[in-house]
Amino acid sequence: MPEPQVLRAALRALPSVDQVLTCDTARPGLDRHGRSLFTEAVRTALDAARAAVRTGHDAPPTADDVAHAALSTLDAAAQPSLRPVFNLTGTVLHTNLGRAILAEEAVAAAIAAMREAVTLEFDLGSGGRGERDDHVRDLLCALTGAEDATLVNNNAAAVLLVLNTLAQDRDSIVSRGELIEIGGAFRMPDIMARAGTRLVEVGTTNRTHPKDYRAAIGPSTGLLVKVHTSNYRIEGFTKEVAPRDLAAIAREAGVPLFNDLGSGTLCDLARYGLGHEPTVREAVADGADIITFSGDKLLGGPQAGFIIGRKDLIAAINRNPMKRALRVDKIRLAALEATLKLYRDPDRLAARLPTLRRLTRSAEDLEASAHRLAPALRAKLGPGVAVVPRPCRSQIGSGALPTATLASYGLAVRPDGGGRALDALAKALRALPVPVIGRIEEGALVLDLRCLEDEPAFLAALEALEPRHGLV
Ligand SMILES: *Cc1c(COP(=O)(O)O)cnc(C)c1O
Repeated sequence: MPEPQVLRAALRALPSVDQVLTCDTARPGLDRHGRSLFTEAVRTALDAARAAVRTGHDAPPTADDVAHAALSTLDAAAQPSLRPVFNLTGTVLHTNLGRAILAEEAVAAAIAAMREAVTLEFDLGSGGRGERDDHVRDLLCALTGAEDATLVNNNAAAVLLVLNTLAQDRDSIVSRGELIEIGGAFRMPDIMARAGTRLVEVGTTNRTHPKDYRAAIGPSTGLLVKVHTSNYRIEGFTKEVAPRDLAAIAREAGVPLFNDLGSGTLCDLARYGLGHEPTVREAVADGADIITFSGDKLLGGPQAGFIIGRKDLIAAINRNPMKRALRVDKIRLAALEATLKLYRDPDRLAARLPTLRRLTRSAEDLEASAHRLAPALRAKLGPGVAVVPRPCRSQIGSGALPTATLASYGLAVRPDGGGRALDALAKALRALPVPVIGRIEEGALVLDLRCLEDEPAFLAALEALEPRHGLV
């Protein structure tokens, strides 16, 4: 505690609110944040300064110091919470980082839909009411071979709506090998309960036979359900009933077959040297009556859930009042239409669709990028941090080809000082104005460059990094 006289003098030396508001540093604060917010922040900063003076630790700040503190607080608070980041995790469709990046065509369409009135449910021909599904129905049917199509908020909603419409108060028969958990609270048995359908499990975890389905079918059967085991593989002594054979069993019994493809893809990934993920067209050709898949997984569009299949079943789904609660908005609908249109030109798809472009980047291309970026990162991080270009493996993510990895290249960043230093480095990179998110692997922070398309932007982001910034 300072002497009372010294303390009184120090407190008197504090600037007044007016003095702070009229100093030079206050001008950008007033411009950027407005008078009331800035004045409030100045008062808070002065209170903090007064408390610090009372403890005797700090000399009274100048008006400019206080204005600067108020401005920093307001600038930090003005940052959006949902922020762009560099996804250098190596997972291309990273659910926690927002899955697919949209094509420029989709971004432009979404912006136009935000700025102007649009024909969301308006038929320009008749001048009367239109259907929001109409904007993508024909495209979806043409791309998949399905009779009809509708769409909802996401694939989880699509599954819920299909089960509730077609199997409420009746049995849904599914193999024990396909009772998936997607993550979060999405577990097939739980979603079935919420949809009001009775889950009837058949077969075992590793083997399910046609006779298992046949034995379970009865008067109370509503649906046969096939779930694509999108995020795991059962290997070894296994047997599942192929969609085509299950469709035959369903037809025989006069019960619809529902196939939840999860990611689904509209193009054959094998064509791009990736593994084969069942295409939506194949699922239609294999005879499923109703099929669901996601908009923001391999398809590379915004979040959405597609439901395609038999006309009578789609009509029943559209009559379900839940459909209204699960519908998509105009912004995503615009982006979806634009994304689907890109599929009409398969030759340029890998160049225009960011998801596919990233999945198909060659390891050589990525290696060259690593060698270009390493010196700049090394210079930024300073001595005591090794930055080494090295091969790594990326994954697709979001439950598609779960066991497939892609040969990639990245930067392994390893600070002296072990685990604590490594955590501090990862944290410093996450604290950048555009955060850099890598993954920790074998004692190094690995920055997989597969999803880094804008190298100058990355180098600019590193500018904010102080040498040894945040490192212990
Ligand atoms: C991802 C997935 C879902 C859920 O899809 P969202 O688009 O995330 O709602 C449902 N079923 C399967 C098989 C999936 O892979």
